[in-house]
Amino acid sequence: MPVFLECRRCTACCRWPGQVAISESEISRIAEFLNLSEHAFIQEFTRINAARNGLALTEKSDGSCMFLDGNECHIQAVKPQQCRDFPNLWQFPGFEKLCQAIPRILSETEYRDKIRTATGRKSLT
Ligand code: SF4
Ligand code: SF4
Repeated sequence: MPVFLECRRCTACCRWPGQVAISESEISRIAEFLNLSEHAFIQEFTRINAARNGLALTEKSDGSCMFLDGNECHIQAVKPQQCRDFPNLWQFPGFEKLCQAIPRILSETEYRDKIRTATGRKSLT
């Protein structure tokens, strides 16, 4: 039986060190949501990623994501796929010490429905 990790919106994943990579289509979507031109969005809210082959969101001085507003994501409706996919579709060793998501044992059908809702992905392959 698959295990779905149900997010408790603790926002720890928006605060720990790392980077949130963003694709070109995500740049367009987030810029439109913020009512900015893509150029203005890139200038104000992105930086070169660690691999120097794309862009990532900038962080605040404490390392948290620039779009973390209290305990809310300011761009929740259009947040990057990387944010949507964690912690069910990608993780890192020891993530469970930081992430408060609750494991739920589900049927295959329930699991797929939950994953589609959480990630916005139409296909899980
Ligand atoms: S974009 Fe939103 S969900 Fe993603 S790290 Fe930033 S605040 Fe968190
Ligand atoms: S995915 Fe985990 S760390 Fe991120 S907000 Fe949800 S419970 Fe917290």
